[in-house]
Amino acid sequence: MLPFVKPTVTEEDIERINEVLRSGWITTGPKVQAFEQALSEYLDGALVRVFNSGTSALEACVLACDIGPGDEVIVPAMSFVASANVVVRAGARPVFVDVGLDTRNIDIEAIEAAITPQTKAILPVHFAGLAADLDAIYQLAEDRGLHVIEDAAHAIGSDYQGRRIGADGDLICFSFHPNKNMTTIEGGAVACFDPDLAKRLERIRFHGIERDEAGQMDVLEWGGKMNLPDVNAALGLQQLARLDDYNAKRRALVRRYFERLSRHAAVRPPADGEGHSWHLFAPLIDFAALGIDRAGFQARLAEREIGSGYHYPAIHLFKLYRRMGYRDGDFPNAERIGEQTLTLPLFPAMTEADVDAVCTALDAVLAELTRGTGT
Ligand SMILES: *Cc1c(COP(=O)(O)O)cnc(C)c1O
Repeated sequence: MLPFVKPTVTEEDIERINEVLRSGWITTGPKVQAFEQALSEYLDGALVRVFNSGTSALEACVLACDIGPGDEVIVPAMSFVASANVVVRAGARPVFVDVGLDTRNIDIEAIEAAITPQTKAILPVHFAGLAADLDAIYQLAEDRGLHVIEDAAHAIGSDYQGRRIGADGDLICFSFHPNKNMTTIEGGAVACFDPDLAKRLERIRFHGIERDEAGQMDVLEWGGKMNLPDVNAALGLQQLARLDDYNAKRRALVRRYFERLSRHAAVRPPADGEGHSWHLFAPLIDFAALGIDRAGFQARLAEREIGSGYHYPAIHLFKLYRRMGYRDGDFPNAERIGEQTLTLPLFPAMTEADVDAVCTALDAVLAELTRGTGT
């Protein structure tokens, strides 16, 4: 069975982790410092603070922007739910906007229409590793005095106009969950450029503690427990060194997908773009027109030893968000993506022959269903 995602962990990665376990210092320490330094170098000198998850990184950014009750944050309706949950956690309201059907990225005109006097930040997602329209987003943010918190969970190693995502901007959050383009098992990071914001993130990350020059601690504000252990950072250092190779491999596999992917009318490929790091390759499939539901379609692929995934249901249709007043029909593109998206296998250890096998299985399932419905 070909899974839709599989992290690459080498014997050398395991050895580096074991070294930390044997060293006697296993939580946050020298490896975290080295990992932050390496990420900073990777991001052209950005200030980097690592966290125990991408969600923690986003949550800390929302708090560091002093976002709370009465405030609004603009969030795409199509993302992993964490993008909106972190706003709710701060007591603020996520104001959803629709996305492009093929890019899955936040719609600029929709952002503009959604801004109110309560808006504090825009939280764009670089969906699947394709950069959102950052020039337009930062222009809007500057005009309206808003923060930009980029959810770059999919986008470590992606470029925007030839520059790495995270090498420029306000606050940029990464995730190192095992499904992402590099992993620390669980983990995340924030890149920023303002030393005061970086200091604030450090405090929110660890109990609100600040130490003076003599090492005396004081607690200046509420802080959580969001620090990354050294064991994880040791894996991150290894993965980061291979990230560009991994992403090159992903791009090559996706080139193959675009060559081989079925031209069936029910299949709509995702948008390609400059600097895309291809965290996910997920065409839309018109399951209704094929007379099947997604689970049934996935089962037919699984019969042919092909795994698949589902990224993501539209956020505003979850019960939590319906209770805030969102409903069916609010964001047609996000809803259609939620209904029709199917994530095909893509990870660096795959071969082009694997891509061919996925496309052959997809063709066979489509042929079966097309015969079945007489279309
Ligand atoms: C994975 C993901 C997150 C959360 O990252 P974790 O490290 O799993 O907490 C946030 N946003 C998006 C878009 C993601 O895909």
